[in-house]
Amino acid sequence: MYVVSSVSPSLLNYESTGFVPSQLEVSQLPEDRPVDAQLVDSQLASGIRTLRFPSQLETYYQEDTASDRLQLMINSGLLVCLMFNWMLVSDWLLIPDQFELALRLRLFIYTPVTLVGLFVLTRIQSPSLREVLLIVHGSGAAFISIALCVASSDPYATPYVVSLSSIVMFTNSVMRMRFYQAAVLDAIILGLYICAAFLIQDAPYELIIPGGLLLVSTIAFTLYGAYRQEQDTRINWLLHLRERLLLKDLEATNQALHDASRSDMLTDVANRRHFDEHIHALWEAALEDGREISLLMIDVDHFKAYNDRYGHPTGDACLKEVAAALKRRLRRPGDLIARFGGEEFIAVLDGTPLKTAAGAAERVRKGIEGLNLLHATSSTHAVVTASIGVASARPADGTMSIQQLISAADDALYKAKQAGRNRVHTHGMTELEAA
Ligand code: GH3
Ligand code: MG
Ligand code: MG
Repeated sequence: MYVVSSVSPSLLNYESTGFVPSQLEVSQLPEDRPVDAQLVDSQLASGIRTLRFPSQLETYYQEDTASDRLQLMINSGLLVCLMFNWMLVSDWLLIPDQFELALRLRLFIYTPVTLVGLFVLTRIQSPSLREVLLIVHGSGAAFISIALCVASSDPYATPYVVSLSSIVMFTNSVMRMRFYQAAVLDAIILGLYICAAFLIQDAPYELIIPGGLLLVSTIAFTLYGAYRQEQDTRINWLLHLRERLLLKDLEATNQALHDASRSDMLTDVANRRHFDEHIHALWEAALEDGREISLLMIDVDHFKAYNDRYGHPTGDACLKEVAAALKRRLRRPGDLIARFGGEEFIAVLDGTPLKTAAGAAERVRKGIEGLNLLHATSSTHAVVTASIGVASARPADGTMSIQQLISAADDALYKAKQAGRNRVHTHGMTELEAA
């Protein structure tokens, strides 16, 4: 059973701006790899400081969030195309000598490559490979920005290198790169900045050093933001996962309760309540389509004597065997077997005329006799037997109510008992007709 108590109450009230699965559906839980609810609780309690789940949960996390992340990548990929070309205005104002190169690199190389890359992302199945491609893509953008500054001999080329900060901000916050991937990309960008500092002709240190400090600050702030954001997203995902697990438990418990409320504990056939619901539903349907409904009322012969001779527990075992024999003999989809009370069972045969039902009852009688359960104190037979009363009705005719049909089957059972037991009596039919 799922334990909730181990999670601190503050986590239950947790609100996050991170990943929120659109629906809580139990069917979304992986069937092949059941999720351990206690593991989810322990992860929540730990605070996910390493931003990693244990491997099985991590794989599920990656898979479960993959489509939302892909959507985010596509949206921000389209936005970055726009933004990266928008920087052509800055190129034109700050490094006009390289404007043509900027136009070629930004508009005719970076943009189509990004668009093709977005398409490729939709084809890639591995979530982690998609994240790696983000690093490659971000590095490409940073490389182009640096290359333009290095190629330019304009005095504004050096301060313009600081534009790398905007790439850092975009990838770490708008694109919500995962923390570790963001850290790798930021290290690459910082490396490119240092290269630029050496490669740009006569780069003044008065600009390079504060520019570098600005970039490092941007990286530090946004990386911290990315860390907290990923932590929030993971906690939020765990909370939703836990809700899904609770829902699954609840559904299973409800199903078990529902089944238990409809079946007889001893014999595992339907109970009286289920029988009542079933016959009423069938009756309604039969009123519409005119089909016949038959009942078999089955009563174990001399069962009191059996109990007295062999004891109550053996009597219980006998009832189980009789119920199992009934199930083996009456297995059509429309058949319902219920324990009517004590050592009495009732079977509902949907869409079955009287004569067919009488044939089924005879098979059932033989089946019970064929169990060969010794009954030394029976005054009529040496083994456990049962008497069966059969009755049919066509509800649409309006000649009988449910209660009258049950009474008719009961009357027939009484006649079978009176005629010597271990036999079938069919309501409204002579034995000759029924044979
Ligand atoms: P008949 O052939 O006329 O049906 O005789 P009978 O002895 O079977 O009928 P009677 O109604 O006199 O006795 C039914 C017995 O069934 C009495 C009761 O102790 C027993 N019985 C009812 N429910 C259970 C049960 O759940 N377990 C066991 N072991 N016995 C039960
Ligand atoms: Mg009996
Ligand atoms: Mg009885």
